[in-house]
Amino acid sequence: MTSTYRASSRTDPDRERELAAGLERARGQIAEACAAAGRSPADVRLIAVGKTFPAADAASVVRAGQTDLGENKAQELAPKAEALREQGLEPTWHFIGQLQRNKVRQVLASASWIHSVDRTSLVDAIARAAERPVNVCLQVDLGADPGRGGVSPDDLLPLAEHAAAQENLRVRGVMTVAPLDWDADRAFTLLAELSGKLRSVVPGATEISAGMSQDLSSAVAHGATMVRLGRTVFGAR
Ligand SMILES: *Cc1c(COP(=O)(O)O)cnc(C)c1O
Repeated sequence: MTSTYRASSRTDPDRERELAAGLERARGQIAEACAAAGRSPADVRLIAVGKTFPAADAASVVRAGQTDLGENKAQELAPKAEALREQGLEPTWHFIGQLQRNKVRQVLASASWIHSVDRTSLVDAIARAAERPVNVCLQVDLGADPGRGGVSPDDLLPLAEHAAAQENLRVRGVMTVAPLDWDADRAFTLLAELSGKLRSVVPGATEISAGMSQDLSSAVAHGATMVRLGRTVFGAR
């Protein structure tokens, strides 16, 4: 699967309306999932994932009031963040993709959250490069999916202890992408259990980054505090 980053910076009024509607749709779905789960929407942060869409789209959602944006590739995040900065827009950037050590500095130039920390060598690279505290979630691989990243559940707590000992890392919680062949409820139940274990080691690590467009309501039902929605906001990729 390849995707091209469309670097257009034009704003188109029709597209602006479409994106505002996408944001509203995402917020509506979060509210509905929260109502079903007896939770407050204020406890679920929307991260709008704009990967493959142009910087102009990211700028539009920020102007429409969205504060948190996610990207999964360093080489897409950097120019997009720069394009927004030039327009005076400085959202909170969340890096959510697999991260190579040699891209850490590039990511830290704009991202204040990294959701995909999954190995000690990456923790060490972030600790060396970070000039100020960076929020991290530890990504767990629930299904041993090759190529998607994530620490195995058995290795989560040792990784957490190592990360929590670094001066400029703030371990904030767990993250996962539900395995393709799993029932979402099963995945997010297990993630909630792992979140409890993580909190026994790092009490402040209360975030659960889970839920994409297809499994949002299950994630919210199982305690997600950060949901990462791409297609719901931006449309089909
Ligand atoms: C793309 C992506 C998302 C958003 O997925 P949608 O299906 O577009 O909502 C969430 N998390 C990660 C890690 C992603 O790569």
